[in-house]
Amino acid sequence: MEQNIQDYYRKMGIAQEVYSYGTRIEETLFERFRKIDRMAELNQLKVIDAMQKARVSADCFHYVSGYGYDDFGRDTLEKVYSNVFHTEDALVRPQITCGTHALALTLMACLRPGDELLSIAGKPYDTLEEVIGIRPSCGSLAEYGVTYSQVDLLEDGSFDYKTIEKAITKKTKIVTIQRSKGYQTRPSFSVDQIGEAVRFVKQVKPEIICMVDNCYGEFVEEKEPSDVGADLVVGSLIKNPGGGLAPIGGYIVGKKDLIEQCACRLTSPGLGKEVGASLGVMQSFYQGLFLAPTVVAGALKGAVFAANVYENLGYPVIPNGREERHDIIQAVTLGSAEGVIQFCKGIQAAAPVDSYVAPQPWAMPGYDSEVIMAAGAFVQGSSIELSADGPVKPPYAVYFQGGLTWEHAKFGIMMSLQKLWEAGMVKEFPARDLK
Ligand SMILES: *Cc1c(COP(=O)(O)O)cnc(C)c1O
Repeated sequence: MEQNIQDYYRKMGIAQEVYSYGTRIEETLFERFRKIDRMAELNQLKVIDAMQKARVSADCFHYVSGYGYDDFGRDTLEKVYSNVFHTEDALVRPQITCGTHALALTLMACLRPGDELLSIAGKPYDTLEEVIGIRPSCGSLAEYGVTYSQVDLLEDGSFDYKTIEKAITKKTKIVTIQRSKGYQTRPSFSVDQIGEAVRFVKQVKPEIICMVDNCYGEFVEEKEPSDVGADLVVGSLIKNPGGGLAPIGGYIVGKKDLIEQCACRLTSPGLGKEVGASLGVMQSFYQGLFLAPTVVAGALKGAVFAANVYENLGYPVIPNGREERHDIIQAVTLGSAEGVIQFCKGIQAAAPVDSYVAPQPWAMPGYDSEVIMAAGAFVQGSSIELSADGPVKPPYAVYFQGGLTWEHAKFGIMMSLQKLWEAGMVKEFPARDLK
């Protein structure tokens, strides 16, 4: 079989040199992969337990249209999410269109004119700048008289507690923490670090609502931010918890009264959680959540593999090949526009969908440089599926994430290296002494 696998890689465009380097790297990672599998096992049990306790039945998958009163599948799914995240309540809906929408909804539901939002993890994710009004935008929180302040992280990427204490005022209503680095070069936070920050904030002002942007973090660790004191945890179903099957959606889990506010904002005051038909997507939401722990494990193995493949070739990588993971994103600094482009071409060429197209840099709205994106996904734009993107500007880093299976992630990374090798950017592979 070994020979047949190798023949397949060759047939699909991976040179012998690239294949054997990749294989040598993989052999150094088995111990690491074993730990990732154990984490998946724990989270798999957590999800099954949550489904059993909520008495999930085949009736949950029925198509419901119209107003959606008594949408049994929807209501039961929200119980399942509450069980997984250990919260009082949950809002999990196809009417929440994406992660940005889930976060905007939460902020707009819980803030009132005169309140202040405080980010203690530095600049939030790009798309939130317009939600908050950091960049003026139609319908932003700023337009409604909600102010914003921010405490940057210390140089080592940790929370700046002294400045946070000073930044909390009478007006501060919500403190937001972004778990994942997103497309920045800071480290991502562990759940324990988030817990420590939440405890600190509550000690300064107990009534503050602590909210965590959990995008890309679900099922990476044993615990979730709601297990360490966060009042609201928010994420996208087109990422980890959708397991690659959810075609749309977002979730908010947390305190019952806050979830009620979010529901009243999503639908309407007076209607709250009672309306919002699930339109036949329930089976994919349940099944995606069921698969999510192992899908996340595959993506994590891909990220660790990529870190080690590129680190051993001398490229800066964040996180490095040995660091513990708190999300599924891997940054690789290739140092040139050509490098970014070849990397993305490789990821695209390894996709099951649209493998024959070559991604090109383009001037995407909201970015100040050209951006290149590689994705051949079953769900459009899904970043739990194998995908890579990067702004074409210094330091020429690509952000790589996902892979519904480890085998696909591995093939994609090998293909990215193959493209760099074909372009003459990687000339030789380290003979031994891998890190
Ligand atoms: C992806 C992401 C978002 C936004 O989610 P979309 O589904 O792309 O709108 C917000 N925050 C973080 C940290 C993310 O990774």
